[in-house]
Amino acid sequence: MRRFFVAGNWKMNKTIAEARDLMNAMLPLLAGIDNVDIAITPVYLAVPAMVEQCRSTGVKVGAQNLFWEASGAYTGEVAAAMVAEVCDFVIVGHSERRKYFGETDETVNRRLKAALEVGLEVIVCIGETLEENEAGLTAAVVTRQLTEGLAGITEAQAAAVTIAYEPVWAIGTGRAATPEDANRVHRDVIRPLLVAQFGEARAEQMRIQYGGSVTAENAHELFSMSDIDGALVGGASLKADSFAGIVKAASLVAIADRRAS
Ligand code: PEP
Repeated sequence: MRRFFVAGNWKMNKTIAEARDLMNAMLPLLAGIDNVDIAITPVYLAVPAMVEQCRSTGVKVGAQNLFWEASGAYTGEVAAAMVAEVCDFVIVGHSERRKYFGETDETVNRRLKAALEVGLEVIVCIGETLEENEAGLTAAVVTRQLTEGLAGITEAQAAAVTIAYEPVWAIGTGRAATPEDANRVHRDVIRPLLVAQFGEARAEQMRIQYGGSVTAENAHELFSMSDIDGALVGGASLKADSFAGIVKAASLVAIADRRAS
């Protein structure tokens, strides 16, 4: 039976005070939902406050990035152990990091390894641009990003890894991939690569989130697909009711799955 993982990526939004207000509004709406893994990633500075506020709620708090070196003269960076000191997981390879901050598959891999070494859970983001999509390169791009991004990761380490398939053209545009198209990439490209690297049992248990304009309105249909195991949510995670609506959709699909099995 699937257990969905819905994570809200707040990006560079919300001061600490605003983050507290948002969580105050969100937590009552999420209370009682215990069949979905729920997480948020605020900006670094708000992480400790959110960890404190979410304590004993079941909502996990993570960071949006980290650096692979352990310490030293890297002004502005935060090391994996520093993240692990305050929270449980981290996102690496978000397309905005790739687009604006020079992230490559190789640097994604270095961040991933550093995160896993200190025991963090990791969401690894992949996804093709509009040009790549229109050129029919989706499978090739996703294959390269996954192969290079996960290079050297063992089957045991993969237990802590979630993949987020986020077509770049769908992020923040209001134009989500169709559930069928997203599922096709998850089922026919990503899952087989995970099987090849980690074996069937581990690959089946790893979660593949979809990200890109997920809303409370389209979430149910997305989660109803065979290989969409959750969502990485940007814009809709900044509003309590829309994020809660997405989590509730995951909860309802999980209940329906259980009845059907
Ligand atoms: C994201 O930031 O990862 C994302 C998917 O954003 P949005 O939900 O706003 O498209």
